[in-house]
Amino acid sequence: MRLRFLGGLGVLAAATILTTGCDSPPADTVKMADSKADAAAKAKASKAAKVQRAAAVKANELGQIPVLMFHRIVEKPATTDDRSPAQFRADLERLVREGYVPITAAEMVAGKIDIPAGKHPVVLTFDDSSPSQLTLNEVGVPQKDTAVAILKEVAAKHPGFRPVATMYITRDMFGKTVREEQAQTLQWLKDNGFDLGNHTRDHINLRGRSQKEVEEQISTIGKQITSLSGVKPTTIALPYGNQPKNKNWALHGPGYHHDGAFLAGYTPSAAPFSKAFEPAGIPRIKVMEKKGDCSQFCSEAWLDWLNKNQDMRYVSDGDPRTVAYPKFKNPYLRKTFATWALPY
Ligand SMILES: [Zn+2]
Repeated sequence: MRLRFLGGLGVLAAATILTTGCDSPPADTVKMADSKADAAAKAKASKAAKVQRAAAVKANELGQIPVLMFHRIVEKPATTDDRSPAQFRADLERLVREGYVPITAAEMVAGKIDIPAGKHPVVLTFDDSSPSQLTLNEVGVPQKDTAVAILKEVAAKHPGFRPVATMYITRDMFGKTVREEQAQTLQWLKDNGFDLGNHTRDHINLRGRSQKEVEEQISTIGKQITSLSGVKPTTIALPYGNQPKNKNWALHGPGYHHDGAFLAGYTPSAAPFSKAFEPAGIPRIKVMEKKGDCSQFCSEAWLDWLNKNQDMRYVSDGDPRTVAYPKFKNPYLRKTFATWALPY
């Protein structure tokens, strides 16, 4: 047995030597070359199919993304920052009708935009961690008419509309003062696919503050969020939308590293794949009808504008590993995403 086996190897070696150098390559090499050519042809065909699919839905993954800014959801709005439950339901229903699918701020800044072909991403953000956004009963069910309860209701009615949002947390902790209750609330959010972001501990204006003060405000609440939930925030919303003297202090400091800092106004954001994307100052849009100060730069006006300017809006090709866009926009692709590029 053993001898025959060795003999077999010898024959194989001889055959290899004999065929090397002659015109026809050994059978194994031919096979390999064939499969390489096959693979290349397959890759080409699959890329062509991807390009075709992207073009069919007019994918534009260098287009603009609305990041909506909410505060309290209360029956009687006291300021123009508040929305009533009925208004918030209508806000969400409009997004459903117009083909938007929510992603989180963390997903956006990481470039993880996984929504179906032809759909538009929208980021829902809630500032100040108030009880009107989430209050849970004794068995962990969100109270009726809180922001989270409404978002889940609307999503249940419209499959495909993801019930996810980013909650920008301060020491207010959804009105909870007991550590165990704070942990329950934050862990519930994490377990239900919500994103936890930093909104500074005391909600102070960071403009003009020393580096030490800025870092302390950001790192203390960041650590608290992590110790309560295990989540390390990857984004921050700047109180009043004001950047510190050095805008990078909001992104990197002792114990924290953010991939994006969000402002308070006044335009849709560039896509994270675009050169126009500015991680230290990502614009958001206040949610409000077209009136008064909001006649031009709040959500109703901007959603109207994005509807009218389809070529400016982000449209997904349905594949999170590619960045698909009309070839004409090529100069705007961020270099870090060059290997994902799918121009058509
Ligand atoms: Zn705030």
